[in-house]
Amino acid sequence: MIQIHKILIANRGEIAVRIIRACRDLHIKSVALFTEPDGDCLHVKIADEAYRIGTDAIRGYLDIARIIEIAKACSADAVHPGYGFLSENYEFAKACEDSGIIFIGPRSEVIRKMGNKNIARKLMASNGIPIVPGTEKLNSYGLDEIKVFAEKIGYPVILKASGGGGGRGIRVVYKQEELENALDSCKREALTFFGNDEVFMEKYVVSPRHIEFQILGDNYGNIIHLCERDCSIQRRHQKIIEIAPCPGISEHLRKTIGVTAIAAAKAVGYTNVGTVEFLLDDYNRFYFMEMNTRIQVEHPVTEEITGVDLIVRQIRIAGGEILDLEQSDIKPRGFAIEARITAENVWKNFIPSPGKIGEYYPALGPSVRVDSHIYKDYKVPPFYDSLLAKLIIKATSFDLAVNKLERALKEFIITDIRTTIPFLIAITKTREFRRGYFDTSFIETHMKELLENTEDRHQDNKEEVIAAIAATLKKIRESRK
Ligand code: ADP
Ligand code: ADP
Ligand code: MG
Repeated sequence: MIQIHKILIANRGEIAVRIIRACRDLHIKSVALFTEPDGDCLHVKIADEAYRIGTDAIRGYLDIARIIEIAKACSADAVHPGYGFLSENYEFAKACEDSGIIFIGPRSEVIRKMGNKNIARKLMASNGIPIVPGTEKLNSYGLDEIKVFAEKIGYPVILKASGGGGGRGIRVVYKQEELENALDSCKREALTFFGNDEVFMEKYVVSPRHIEFQILGDNYGNIIHLCERDCSIQRRHQKIIEIAPCPGISEHLRKTIGVTAIAAAKAVGYTNVGTVEFLLDDYNRFYFMEMNTRIQVEHPVTEEITGVDLIVRQIRIAGGEILDLEQSDIKPRGFAIEARITAENVWKNFIPSPGKIGEYYPALGPSVRVDSHIYKDYKVPPFYDSLLAKLIIKATSFDLAVNKLERALKEFIITDIRTTIPFLIAITKTREFRRGYFDTSFIETHMKELLENTEDRHQDNKEEVIAAIAATLKKIRESRK
């Protein structure tokens, strides 16, 4: 076991704050990084040390050489990558390994394999893990050949960037006429966001649930799971609300998918904290979708039901601790729900709405947790993910958790910028959500109702937006016929 004294956090915002707090709980010193326009962010203020890393808002957080240099100069023994940015960049993990700095995550080789969804799919299939029917990478095939693949799989199909993440680089194709355009725009988006235009095709599973298992493994081959999360409440393939455990699945199905998730992790020799994502269809058939080799945005819901501090575990495992938990020790209690509060204008197609926050009053009360980096008078910069705060609720039953979520959202005050709070409240009011009866199509199919129920003090063009959404939905439905 190596005693870690100082951790450099190669990230920003709420996750950097979360990691700094875990460091403090473990009496480990924390080092923050910030780019010039980001110096007011809370993580910079609360870390033990902070270093500026360039003038460009984003580039500094991606500057591997400079980050390693700072880690060495300030004698950090470990680096925590958070999520996003360099967290799934195997070259970064490798650079840490090569410099004798502990990378808090799995080995670079594992990140490399799982970072390409296509390679991950193949590896899982060869280990007997069910995957969605699909193709290899499509880049060396002509349009006619790709059309044949799609016919064989059967429409609808989904095009995905092999290196994708955060819901980007995904296109659903309902019929052949749409294939060429979708392929072009998918490749373009993949190149812009991930610097690589490799794409592949899968069968589009209609209205599935997104179910993911939290994996915890040490460096000695011990791997367990910490139950599942339901992340089906998504808009444009991006998660909005996450729940643990998944409401309404049987103990038998939970066990079966859990065993598969562990087999998937073992297939790559996984260590540290990770997530295996699955799609679950109407017939309770489930398919491996991808593995995320990092801490996830929605990790708090798992912490709340299992009582396991995932960031503390990440750090200890990276330091060589042997896992002192067995599968039978994991006994989830109650339900936890996380709602992502983002700076977005619901009425303008959810465009980011940065700016200076006026009042800030996060909801409090029993079993309410808020993970955030914002504060009164903080100026939300326009350069980053629009996440402002994660509101996490814990209760003994799902019903009560939904009631508490609605109550806490109503108490939550952020003024002067647009946020998704009123939209989230509208979700908590729907029958389907309250009953735990929803799938990944929920937001899209309920958009009109949700907008009608979104009470917003600045609803400049509410009627117009609702009419436009209704027209778009009609068009989509017609094109699917
Ligand atoms: P989670 O899987 O933890 O729910 P998200 O998919 O919401 O996380 O992504 C978390 C953050 O990381 C977001 O800011 C997202 O934009 C970013 N992100 C995720 N994967 C990638 C990737 N491969 N490349 C760049 N950014 C990513
Ligand atoms: P990312 O790396 O961006 O998280 P994923 O492969 O995890 O990409 O997919 C994101 C979301 O897109 C899923 O949660 C799911 O809602 C949807 N999705 C992905 N693949 C399929 C599929 N084959 N069929 C139906 N929906 C899918
Ligand atoms: Mg995913």
